Amino acid sequence: MYDVAIVGAGAAGLTAAIYAGRKKLKTVLITGPNIGGETNSTNDIRNYPGYEGSGPELMKKFWEQAKTWGAEVIEDTVGNIKHTKHFTLTLSNGKQLEAKTVILAYGRERRKLNIPGENKFFGRGLSTCTTCDAPLFSNKITAIIGGGNSAVEGALELARIASKVYLVHRREGFRADEVTVDLARKEPKIEIITNHVPVEITGEKFVRSLVIEDINTKKQRTLDVNGVFSEIGWETHTAMVAGLVDTNVVGEILVNELTHTRTLGLYACGDLTHIPHKQTVISAGMGAVAALEAYRFVTVGKN
Ligand code: NAP
Repeated sequence: MYDVAIVGAGAAGLTAAIYAGRKKLKTVLITGPNIGGETNSTNDIRNYPGYEGSGPELMKKFWEQAKTWGAEVIEDTVGNIKHTKHFTLTLSNGKQLEAKTVILAYGRERRKLNIPGENKFFGRGLSTCTTCDAPLFSNKITAIIGGGNSAVEGALELARIASKVYLVHRREGFRADEVTVDLARKEPKIEIITNHVPVEITGEKFVRSLVIEDINTKKQRTLDVNGVFSEIGWETHTAMVAGLVDTNVVGEILVNELTHTRTLGLYACGDLTHIPHKQTVISAGMGAVAALEAYRFVTVGKN
């Protein structure tokens, strides 16, 4: 019986492991191969207090520090979590673990375009993080796909750096805030193309063009671009905790300010929660709170 099972080893999960270890909780950390999580996809971090450098380097420090506090690490994924008196976690290899508390910290996944060229050009002109990679496209021609706040704000960010930005959205109406869309409409470097879906990314070593298709006429058009940004949202997977958590309309886990879900002893922290600002420092802070709450539950018996 573990005191706490932490699912996921990004900024939230690794911080939870440090705090749980320091409280001498019997801790197991279950993680897939991407130790460090979403922070690994950022090469230039300047907003994590006390640190400036690459995301993977920062996460390596988190990982080394977490390991010194003694959590048992299992490399696997969790299939499902059941709650009776305690929690039972079933791993994908069929093994089962028992824990008094569980901290969910496995993040979320970027939605994929599922078009030809997506895998080939990822990191070679195709980016899924405008904030991270826009500075690489100074005076280049770019396209950004999506109609939410990430895409429209991303287009504005790109317009400050790139020479031209196509904003390609599959519908007429935008999901992004109206004021942001208005700013994009007024920005001369941005050309908004609605009612078009991306169908292919082409190039040789690097992106050369984005092929898009009119959803009504099915006519295709090739945009000659140096870079493509896919900002089409995220998916949070919660099937493993079905019945144990509440979610918002976009599927994120609802938590209170102490990271409690609706099940006693089950905490959630980082990007899989409804907390809007998906930032490493915020995930780390939430991971600390979750571990301290788990400690309180294990020692006092209630939160
Ligand atoms: P989002 O709101 O889910 O928007 C995703 C966009 O991508 C939608 O316009 C969607 O089209 C489009 N899309 C989805 N799948 C597609 C596909 N296969 N091909 C082409 N287009 C596709 O995601 P987000 O913009 O990343 O925002 C996520 C959350 O963070 C939102 O709640 C957002 O408001 C918030 N956010 C807030 C701020 C801020 O407040 N400053 C900044 C960024 C994000 P449809 O519209 O047709 O579904």
